Amino acid sequence: MASKAKLVLIGNGMAGIRTLEELLKMAPGAFEITVFGAEPHPNYNRILLSPVLSGEMRLEDTILNDWDWYHDHGINLQAGRKIVQIDRARRRVIAADGIEAAYDRLLIATGSNPFLLPIPGRDLPGVVAYRDISDVEQMLAASAKGGRAVVIGGGLLGLEAANGLLSRGMDVSVVHLHPWLMERQLDQVGGALLQKALAQRGMRFYLPKQTEAVLGETHVTGLRFRDGEEIPADLVVMAVGIRPNIELAKAAGIHCERGIVVNDTMQTYDPRIYAVGECVQHRGQTYGLVAPLFEQAKVAANHLAAYGRMRYEGSITSTKLKVTGIDLFSAGDFTGGPEVEEITLLDGTYGVYKKVVLKDNKVVGSVLYGDTSIGPWLFQLLRENHDIGEIRAHLLFGETHLGDAGHAGHDQAASLPDSAEICGCNGVCKGTIVQAIREQGLFTLEEVRQQTKASSSCGSCTGLVEQLLASTLGGVYDQSPKKKPLCGCTDLTHDEVREAIVAEKLLSARQVFEYLNWNHPGGCATCRPAVNYYVRTAWPAEGLDDPQMHFINERAHANIQKDGTYSVVPRIYGGVTSPAELRRIAEVAERFQVPMVKFTGGQRLDLLGVKKEDLPAIWATLGMPSGHAYGKSLRTVKTCVGTEFCRFGTQDSTRMGIELERALEGMWAPHKVKLAASGCPRNCAESTVKDVGVIGVDSGWEIYIGGNGGMKVRAADLLCKVKTNAEAIEITKAFLQLYRQEAHYLERTAPWVERVGLEHIKVRVVDDPTNRRRLAEALDFALAQERDPWAAAIEGHLDVHAEPLARVAP
Ligand SMILES: Cc1cc2nc3c(=O)[nH]c(=O)nc-3n(C[C@H](O)[C@H](O)[C@H](O)COP(=O)(O)OP(=O)(O)OC[C@H]3O[C@@H](n4cnc5c(N)ncnc54)[C@H](O)[C@@H]3O)c2cc1C
Ligand code: SF4
Repeated sequence: MASKAKLVLIGNGMAGIRTLEELLKMAPGAFEITVFGAEPHPNYNRILLSPVLSGEMRLEDTILNDWDWYHDHGINLQAGRKIVQIDRARRRVIAADGIEAAYDRLLIATGSNPFLLPIPGRDLPGVVAYRDISDVEQMLAASAKGGRAVVIGGGLLGLEAANGLLSRGMDVSVVHLHPWLMERQLDQVGGALLQKALAQRGMRFYLPKQTEAVLGETHVTGLRFRDGEEIPADLVVMAVGIRPNIELAKAAGIHCERGIVVNDTMQTYDPRIYAVGECVQHRGQTYGLVAPLFEQAKVAANHLAAYGRMRYEGSITSTKLKVTGIDLFSAGDFTGGPEVEEITLLDGTYGVYKKVVLKDNKVVGSVLYGDTSIGPWLFQLLRENHDIGEIRAHLLFGETHLGDAGHAGHDQAASLPDSAEICGCNGVCKGTIVQAIREQGLFTLEEVRQQTKASSSCGSCTGLVEQLLASTLGGVYDQSPKKKPLCGCTDLTHDEVREAIVAEKLLSARQVFEYLNWNHPGGCATCRPAVNYYVRTAWPAEGLDDPQMHFINERAHANIQKDGTYSVVPRIYGGVTSPAELRRIAEVAERFQVPMVKFTGGQRLDLLGVKKEDLPAIWATLGMPSGHAYGKSLRTVKTCVGTEFCRFGTQDSTRMGIELERALEGMWAPHKVKLAASGCPRNCAESTVKDVGVIGVDSGWEIYIGGNGGMKVRAADLLCKVKTNAEAIEITKAFLQLYRQEAHYLERTAPWVERVGLEHIKVRVVDDPTNRRRLAEALDFALAQERDPWAAAIEGHLDVHAEPLARVAP
């Protein structure tokens, strides 16, 4: 039997092993494989070193392929053996300890070396780079003693190192050569917001500063800058850049420039030798993020398997910072200039900044800070060179803004094309995930992670992967017996978290994160508003409502519009107003030059195009309560004219609507709640597509629940019939309190009613009068704790004022 061809891999890191994984899928058994790795570990996820440093993960969680994986695939792993020579004439590689291995094909994936500043003192004990497990171990050992850490480099790695050391209790300063942080990923405004957020955590900054020397005799004691200033330090981390690790290839006569030069098939100038990863230079470009390296890995595997079909044509990259609680995204060319257009939104108070750079109606770059939810969509538009002419007005608000999401946010991922990249770290696109869910019968996030690797690195795509699970499996996903965690920060479900909040009397979201051992101490964009809401519903009087845990509209107590202005919707009970109210509204519209005054679909008046700084004065002049048009809360009770004027009317629906709205105003809920009251079965107020709708009949009122208009229409279910207004209000309150207590955050009444079933609700709300009263009283108690947000703001109890741009941009 002919012996197999020999493949040797130098570099047991992310790109090299990913190439082998792809190769084993395409041509299992084609090669006898030997892997040399200078580090004494199996292949691990380098990206996760930052969460390990900050204490959010353990080292063992970073292992991508354990020792068994090599054994099971017949791979001869030489861990802890560094190759020092490639003998191309004899086709052999030689390790530092003299061990040799022959190859027919060689794959070089030696990654990068951290760049150390050529300054005096750089070799002193206490000076470390940030590249591998041994660097992290050194930093952990230093941080255990406490003291002062100085990180040189305010780029991605430097800030992740600084954040990790800060979490470990060190006093941390960051020194950066450039006037603002992460200048390769952020513009000046984004950099300033980031610096402000990190400074609030206790980080100190020296920038722009050039380091001249590391001070110390036997151990580092400090740094000296070029301007003569000196600062003390017990630990110095140099994170000032990386250089492709090409010495080995260069010494073997393989053509190198900045990196090992490869063609579109990842082949070097020696046709038997391929190279992938950070060590390569392709079409003049080197890369320092994993997504492009994984694209290279696919192509290299394809050619090693002798399929000869794929070509690597370069990559556009996007960046995220893995610092918990700081959301940052950047992609493409965001620097701007005379030939491009910029669309920006800056909310200094809430730390939200969005910038999209356009050229010829195409997205060429973007920076997002504070709210990065639209990042994947913008990145998709950028990669596809999409003409955004028709959706330009929606760019800053995301794809879901193109229509009413209304259905637990499933639409964002569902509407992406199969080619859309979901997991940037691992280069996994939507089609691959959906196919794996369907063909391999996957039900849980964990299974998708294992099978596709999506969401298994930095975790920022977890929400999108969950949406794909939900939209692909539909009802099956919801009914799956396997439990679905609230988000990637915990293994606990929504219900388990709620139970713990009640049982352990947890009174703030932060207390919940701490008590329930959240993976990320500050939570994520998914769990923060949900947990805050659960705390508020469980403990309406004592629970802390943390403004930082709210979505931006709720923090601003106003609905932000597509042009960055706000809308003002005063509450007009039952849609019935008076000349005096109308006069005040008209006066405000004129005085503040409100560009548009419009009736909403729910019969209210909307003042559109309001400047943020005018909001407090407008509300003070109006003297009307907030219509809560921006929140997950009671919106409106729509009414028809009813018996008072309509000749068909059988009940006074206008009065009913007003009574309902007064009884429920200020009510927070898992999602927005809309009501309607119609005076007879002609149903002019459209009560059967509302969360709660009442319809007048001869004997009293019919009460309908769980209706929905919008994109996915659901006709409401008849819950019961009652005789009086008081009964209708009590039933409505009980139903809504049950919904508040049981539905998952962001679940409208329509999917909730379908999930728990009408009978479940009837038993608790209609059949059991004691329970009904208890529920209604619980809602009354919660509402008694609420204050109108704008009244509170005007009295100075709530800060909703806008911060002028000048204070943010340095
Ligand atoms: C702390 C940190 C955080 C990061 N965060 C992100 C992130 O959030 N997103 C992102 O996309 N990227 C991130 N990166 C970058 C990402 O980890 C790298 O792009 C990726 O690991 C590069 O893969 P590689 O295989 O080319 O190199 P590596 O993963 O470095 O693997 C190269 C391996 O080759 C070995 N080697 C070198 N020379 C020899 C030799 N002569 N003989 C034997 N073995 C040798 C090295 O020891 C190393 O194990 C981060 C990097 C770090 C350090
Ligand atoms: S629902 Fe009945 S009462 Fe109300 S406006 Fe229509 S016809 Fe008149």
